[in-house]
Amino acid sequence: MTDTIVITDPDTDRYHTFGYISWWQQEVVRNATVLVVGAGALGNEVLKNLALMGIGNILIADFDTIEDANLSRSVLFRESDRGRRKVDAAAAGVRALNKDVKVKAWHGDINYEMGLGVFRHVDAIIGCLDNREARLSINRFCWAVDKPWVDGAIQELMGIVRVFWPGRGACYECTLTDLDYQLINLRYSCPLLARQNLLQGKVPTTPTSASIVAAFQTQEALKLIHGLEVQPGKALMINGLTNDVYTTEYPVKEFCMSHATMSPIVALPQATAAGTTVGELLAIARQQLNDDEAVLEFDSELVVAMHCPDCEGQEAIFRRMARLYDDAATCPNCGGRREMELTHRITGREAWLDKSLASIDVPALSIIRARTGRERAYLELTGDKESFLQFESR
Ligand SMILES: [Zn+2]
Ligand SMILES: [Zn+2]
Repeated sequence: MTDTIVITDPDTDRYHTFGYISWWQQEVVRNATVLVVGAGALGNEVLKNLALMGIGNILIADFDTIEDANLSRSVLFRESDRGRRKVDAAAAGVRALNKDVKVKAWHGDINYEMGLGVFRHVDAIIGCLDNREARLSINRFCWAVDKPWVDGAIQELMGIVRVFWPGRGACYECTLTDLDYQLINLRYSCPLLARQNLLQGKVPTTPTSASIVAAFQTQEALKLIHGLEVQPGKALMINGLTNDVYTTEYPVKEFCMSHATMSPIVALPQATAAGTTVGELLAIARQQLNDDEAVLEFDSELVVAMHCPDCEGQEAIFRRMARLYDDAATCPNCGGRREMELTHRITGREAWLDKSLASIDVPALSIIRARTGRERAYLELTGDKESFLQFESR
């Protein structure tokens, strides 16, 4: 990297002072695309920092709406934002701070609703989360597509900042204890996700803790974008009560469930979730693997239909089980408990091969596993990239 210092006119260039930093490259910052998962206390602070630095494209992901209790820790939200989706208010706040920054607000559940290709096509991923489930999801997604991510956590006056990088030191799941797994499993003990449970167990935090941790997170992301050295698998621990700040290193777990990389990923520029059918993707899979018996596989169960044993009513569903609420099992005709018809594999014998991928709950820019015997290929719906990763300025 060259250390050319570009000095601009402070009257006309808002990034003037950054030019004095030897390694700073505003062009790199301007061209960067950063995914921020979570628009709560940490997310607000990270987004504010990214906007001030002139990060060119920011994708904000969150599924929550604003309540008054958020206002004490969220610099981008206003009282008038009550009830608004966090991503929308945050996007508006970012645009108001810096018109150079282009934003996309994505309202959804990161665990099940975002295609993995999104993670592959951004330059940095920052997790601003308050729960283990979403961290675990991001960690596995990042491993799958071989991308580093920056995690931040706050509680009262304590904070942790960590960079996780597949193959370089411990990952987030390596750090989980038996108790962590117990807490995660507790929430998933019912097969149909009661998503409202994820919102429980609110962590007490302060805007100061959020500022401190988010500042470090943003800096780590900035280093990643510039190709500067980071310390993956280590944690920066900050205790604001005693002012102890130290780093600690986690051991790598030998049989960590997260250590799975999708390879090879095959980019399909013509394929999209809405425009490609199940049958068409299966044909591509068979061509790629050179085997007419190849199948498509999903990591989560797809509920094809619900059957009622009491009134024999049937309903086509085509939604992943993890995205259904418990009340979906109740029969609308007789109130009985319906049974789910599940699948996670497309073999070519399905009666619904002409349905689009989107209509069977496959998100845009997804990566889908094609398999035959021990051979695998990961098919990316790359045709969605341009429309999904589209950012808007003020
Ligand atoms: Zn691990
Ligand atoms: Zn019924």
